[in-house]
Amino acid sequence: ATPTAVMVATGVGANNGVLIKGGDALERAQMVKYVVFDKTGTLTQGKATVTTTKVFAEMDRGEFLTLVASAEACSEHPLAKAILEYARHFHFFEEPSAAMEAQDHRKDAKFSGWLLDVSEFSALPGRGVQCFINGKKVLVGNRNLLMENGVTIPSDAETFVVELEESAKTGILVAYDAVLIGVLGVADPLKREAVVVVEGLRKMGIKPVMVTGDNWRTAQAVAKEVGIQDIRAEVMPAGKADVIRSFQKDGSTVAMVGDGINDSPALAAADVGMAIGAGTDIAIEAADYVLMRNSLEDVITAIDLSRKTFSRIR
Ligand code: ADP
Ligand code: MG
Repeated sequence: ATPTAVMVATGVGANNGVLIKGGDALERAQMVKYVVFDKTGTLTQGKATVTTTKVFAEMDRGEFLTLVASAEACSEHPLAKAILEYARHFHFFEEPSAAMEAQDHRKDAKFSGWLLDVSEFSALPGRGVQCFINGKKVLVGNRNLLMENGVTIPSDAETFVVELEESAKTGILVAYDAVLIGVLGVADPLKREAVVVVEGLRKMGIKPVMVTGDNWRTAQAVAKEVGIQDIRAEVMPAGKADVIRSFQKDGSTVAMVGDGINDSPALAAADVGMAIGAGTDIAIEAADYVLMRNSLEDVITAIDLSRKTFSRIR
């Protein structure tokens, strides 16, 4: 392709909300053999919603939600936002004035009358959050987080989590003072175009893959809905780049589509990194392409554009 053709293609991309960072990135996309999708926020809407809660301790639902929301108040994770939102609505019905204060939880979580005081907060990527409330350790996250901290998961709680996961939901476990006190179920629906795009890629001779930090059961349920057979689950943020490299081993050109901080190493490792425009700045920086319309259809637009631009010289 001539420099003019590359310039024209870059302009066509931009007009369609596909920002391409350079001619090399435009050229590599025509050869893509695998497209690796992140799950949360990429294949799914990233608008998690709490659908169920179950308390396994001597406390009422309101107390439970206050504790969990307090622990998550300093987290930027979509799951944390879902929990805060749910707890705030719950308290709105219980106690409207407290809920009004809770609206501002992000501004000044520590001094909100509704949320509890939290100390030693830490976010544990791929696992959850940890902090201290009333001098006791609070853990909110997946099984691994609880197990690493020596918390036993009773069989009735495990059964509840499995049920959630089999219906494509993520189970979030909560421990207080080393005892499991409850579970929340979070749903995050697929983007409307996801199924069609996965099918479209396959028709183009490209293999779709899903990679996620979420657990295997939820991952499998979501993959089934979207029509992807090849999945990697329970992958820690650093591990996503290794997944990309494993597909590159035989010389294949690999694209990664992602939105999160935890996707940026994989976006950088991929031959073609594509960031969702609504994603985090770090993901956008690491990528070669930015999909400004946030539609997965533009993964196909991008590959098509490259194929059309470079077909004449092959
Ligand atoms: P993904 O790869 O799907 O974007 P992450 O790597 O961000 O997922 O997180 C993996 C898993 O870690 C989540 O599915 C959840 O179980 C747990 N997790 C991470 N952050 C949080 C949090 N703030 N609260 C509760 N659970 C969390
Ligand atoms: Mg994501």
